[in-house]
Amino acid sequence: MEKAKCPLCEADIKVPMKKIGYEFSCPECNERIVVKQINPLVLDFATDEDEEEDIKFEKM
Ligand SMILES: [Zn+2]
Repeated sequence: MEKAKCPLCEADIKVPMKKIGYEFSCPECNERIVVKQINPLVLDFATDEDEEEDIKFEKM
């Protein structure tokens, strides 16, 4: 389990899955966060486009 800093509240949070495009909520501030980069681990805010969740990230 990897740890990274939340981009919003800067809490050390556990990242459930080291996978680019994986979205989860920060346990501290509940912000939606997306894994942007894996090595090094970078988190970013997930976009608020919750209406069309069926579009999956493609592997480059
Ligand atoms: Zn947070």
